[in-house]
Amino acid sequence: MNNIPQNIQNIKSQIGENCTLVAVSKTYPAETIIQAYNAGQRVFGENRVQELLSKKDLLPNDIQWHIIGHLQSNKIKYIIDFVSLIHSVDSEKLLQAIDKEASKINRIVPCLLQMYIADEETKFGLDETELYHILENLNQYKHIQIAGLMGMATNTTDQEKIKSEFTYLNDLYNKVKSKYFYSNTEFQHLSMGMSSDYKLAVACGSNMIRVGSLIFK
Ligand SMILES: *Cc1c(COP(=O)(O)O)cnc(C)c1O
Repeated sequence: MNNIPQNIQNIKSQIGENCTLVAVSKTYPAETIIQAYNAGQRVFGENRVQELLSKKDLLPNDIQWHIIGHLQSNKIKYIIDFVSLIHSVDSEKLLQAIDKEASKINRIVPCLLQMYIADEETKFGLDETELYHILENLNQYKHIQIAGLMGMATNTTDQEKIKSEFTYLNDLYNKVKSKYFYSNTEFQHLSMGMSSDYKLAVACGSNMIRVGSLIFK
């Protein structure tokens, strides 16, 4: 039997005050999500637009919805007016498409740039060349606020490998922050860590973890 409030409490006590817990509610129904809400959780992450839209209207409107999974350009228009943070900007084209949709409703949308840090073919993300190309052309994006970086480590039990990927991303985050966002406090999120590796992620500098199964399963 799951105990959602207890699970949230346990995770929060592990990560401390300065780390944001994104409760990844993908695949779970509104009746389950509301249990986390009633325990005080307000930030939720979803990876499918259609699923998010079908649940959103059944749930309180002070929830901050984050998009954490690969986003198709043709779906942006459905989430652009309410999404709190898009973690998964994995191409320059997608960033341009988000900027375009945001400009139509005159909104500035917070986004994280998702870096490819894993040793797997299946994971989305930018490489450093693409990252720096975006950062050198930031003034092109009038309706985007780059709020940090996101990454997913390799799905492995090799802790040293995961640690080196998280450390790499943390170093990159600090480099980017000091070079491009020196006096800009809005570049502030390093989103890394999931159910299996969040403790290691926090030890490596993460200040935003995305945890699903450990809360809801
Ligand atoms: C599903 C998912 C998570 C959460 O995974 P758990 O192992 O259930 O904690 C985190 N980040 C992304 C991008 C996901 O798709």
